[in-house]
Amino acid sequence: MTRILFILLTTLLPIVAFAQEYTPETLPFDPRSFVCDPAHELSGQEAAQINSTLKGIKDKYTVAIVAVIVPSTGDMAPAEFATELFNKWKPGADNKDNGAIILVALEQHRAFIATGYGLEGVFTDALCTRILNKYFVPEMKKGRLYDGLNATVGAMSNIIADPANAEELRSDTPYGDGRPMEAPLSSYQFWQIVFWVASMIFIVSAIIFFVDLFSTRRKTNFEKATVWKKHLPIFWLCAAFSIGSGLIFALLALIFRNYYRNKRVRCDTCGHKMNKLSEEKDNEMLNAAQDLEERLNTIDYDVWVCPQCGTIERFPFPTAQKVYSKCPKCHTVARRLVVDKTLIPATTRRAGEGERVYRCEYCHDESHIRYKIPRKENNAAGAAVLGGIAAGSMGRGGGGGFSGPFGGGMSGGGGGGASW
Ligand SMILES: [Zn+2]
Ligand SMILES: [Zn+2]
Repeated sequence: MTRILFILLTTLLPIVAFAQEYTPETLPFDPRSFVCDPAHELSGQEAAQINSTLKGIKDKYTVAIVAVIVPSTGDMAPAEFATELFNKWKPGADNKDNGAIILVALEQHRAFIATGYGLEGVFTDALCTRILNKYFVPEMKKGRLYDGLNATVGAMSNIIADPANAEELRSDTPYGDGRPMEAPLSSYQFWQIVFWVASMIFIVSAIIFFVDLFSTRRKTNFEKATVWKKHLPIFWLCAAFSIGSGLIFALLALIFRNYYRNKRVRCDTCGHKMNKLSEEKDNEMLNAAQDLEERLNTIDYDVWVCPQCGTIERFPFPTAQKVYSKCPKCHTVARRLVVDKTLIPATTRRAGEGERVYRCEYCHDESHIRYKIPRKENNAAGAAVLGGIAAGSMGRGGGGGFSGPFGGGMSGGGGGGASW
């Protein structure tokens, strides 16, 4: 049953975690716009605001800065992506090479400022990194893309206006130049992930519920009760992990289980309605094997008796336990693992062998099962990384300026990046 949940989760989650990838080739190019935000991570108003600031810088100082926000750069490193994009779009005026691209790669949690040859004198690689670390990263940690971009553009504008303004940043190294050791999730991203996971689990829970409801519609009360009882732990689990939203299905499953388990059945022999015996009374109607199963708590029996003709019906409800399994000889659910020993230990060079002994507590039958112990591995399993699931607010992209930002020269791969 947990397998169903696992399969559903692993097939549904990647759909959610999927971030749109762009390459410098597939990124839509608008020669009039200073903001490229194909996935609308910024609202229309925010994009227009940044576009207008960048256009102001271009008009005043001829320096063309283009802000590019992509959900993901895929397999490409953001620095490589930004440099390639720079050489393709050539931001800057009149072949002065005085352009820059501020690239924000959300899934990669990294921003990069790529600069043209004409700006490298002022915007050194180290300065680009410091600008991002001081103005962009702190805002991104709070999930504020617009504020981060705005502050970054503001800082760059100050330095363009007077390169002496860069002095303060040069002496100031709050975060160092390198990538921080770890990039903690901002609380905004954390809650976004929690929300997505909870929604997915709610959907999974609903799917299981309706599949159960549909598939049991022509079944007997006993079969219906069995299915609801078997899946009830899944519904409780889903309720917990969907922050309570899946509780509705857990409660319905509980109601259905109790209803179908207690609904009076008709006697197969005479058609009279039967009576269910209490837990204490029903033990007398069980055989030795069934009695043992009840005592081991592997199967819970419901016993119904017909008051008219005395017919007895026993309905077995397996309990959720992993210790006992069905004995292959007497079919009692009373077989358990008693010995698990290593015969040949596994090494890093070859597989080993072990033996498990199972014994039935009812008929005392023993089975010896040999199994392979996999070869030891040296490396630890890699941790799964939940990518940044940063869905931006909906809105339209910013409009273009009258004089476009493009027409500049090459970047030699100059620039600096920072992660959040
Ligand atoms: Zn009867
Ligand atoms: Zn047995």
